[in-house]
Amino acid sequence: MTLTLRYVARSDVGLIRSVNQDSGYAGPHLLVLADGMGGPAGGDIASSVAVAHLAPLDGEAHGGDDLVDQLRRAVSAAHTDLVEYSDAKPELAGLGTTVIALLRSGRKLGMVHVGDSRAYLLRDGELVQITADHTFVQHLVDIGQLTPEEAEQHPHRSVLLRVLGDDAAEPELDESVREARAGDRWLLCSDGLSSYVSAETIAETVRSIPDLGECADALIDLALRAGGQDNITIVLADVVETDELPENTPMIVGAAAVDRSKPTRGGDSAAARAAALTRTTGRPARVGDGSDSPADAERYRDEDAEDERAAEEAVLALEPPRRRALRVGIWVLVALALVAGALTLGYRWTQTQYFVAPDADHVAIYQGIPQSLGPLDLSHVHERTTIALDDLPAFARTRVEDVIAATSLADAETIVEDLRAQTTEEP
Ligand code: CA
Repeated sequence: MTLTLRYVARSDVGLIRSVNQDSGYAGPHLLVLADGMGGPAGGDIASSVAVAHLAPLDGEAHGGDDLVDQLRRAVSAAHTDLVEYSDAKPELAGLGTTVIALLRSGRKLGMVHVGDSRAYLLRDGELVQITADHTFVQHLVDIGQLTPEEAEQHPHRSVLLRVLGDDAAEPELDESVREARAGDRWLLCSDGLSSYVSAETIAETVRSIPDLGECADALIDLALRAGGQDNITIVLADVVETDELPENTPMIVGAAAVDRSKPTRGGDSAAARAAALTRTTGRPARVGDGSDSPADAERYRDEDAEDERAAEEAVLALEPPRRRALRVGIWVLVALALVAGALTLGYRWTQTQYFVAPDADHVAIYQGIPQSLGPLDLSHVHERTTIALDDLPAFARTRVEDVIAATSLADAETIVEDLRAQTTEEP
């Protein structure tokens, strides 16, 4: 009998937001949840970068004693990327993400955490919140200025004190090593669940539905029924002792996933939004509360937008921007790390992949692989040639449009010369 993880990951954009900025990862040795923030085009990148750097740990053999070191190094590398990315694209300054990552080796689990996503452990029938929220209101609770009940209703309850972001200082992580015990069930979730569904309802659901997939779907449905005002992401795993071969296909969900734009399971988006208006109780809409009128919901949403601005300002006031080192060109590396870790466990991309494909109406040599993962493009144009697609015979043009793989840059250049020889125009 060996100890192994059974796992699922689910993510839903919710009923109000248009972009899913959460990312989740579940694999045989690694569970990750990241809730990105920073405007429409930053949070999805931030959470994807976190997953990109952590995912390769799932495919590596790790000794039991340095699990936390490995997690810390991966988060630190993600931090470096976020700082560089923010420098290269100043309009994205302020992007960041929460991170919870659990890495298993044998009976040990290393865990790092920053932000307000939560990890819960169901052991012996009792669900216990393992992580502390790194929020301003939790700080006020800790020093006795607020009761937990007041904190739940506080208009600035989403203001984070700590996050993995583009600030020059290294992120301050909570770190721990725990026992992986057969029978344990771990739940990682974004605040799209925990801010809108009560802890009792979450506990009851996690306890009462044995099937991991059904349980994760039920949790998502609860958050949608509460109004689905935020992205909702669930990573759920059981520690089991078994003789069966363990699962080994990782699941990636949310912003880092290929199907990142998939619609909410709350149904057709127009209908779902209309329904959400009649259901939602604004903040914090907990399942079981009464419902407000559509006008109220509209007003709450405006207030939420104001809250978000106020929260951003509050965070900015807490942490003045600092100077950062400028380096660019990291994206291919990040993307390849993600592919290497997540899609083909243990296999290292050589970073010398090339292919030939169209760039607008010309033939071009690309570096990378002809895919994108979430917001990360896995290739870029290495060289745009002077060969127009229109000058190629039909079959050659079709080949280029289907993408011609090359084994090296030299091979790609040979392919281009072959194509040039087939053009109807003189070179
Ligand atoms: Ca969130």
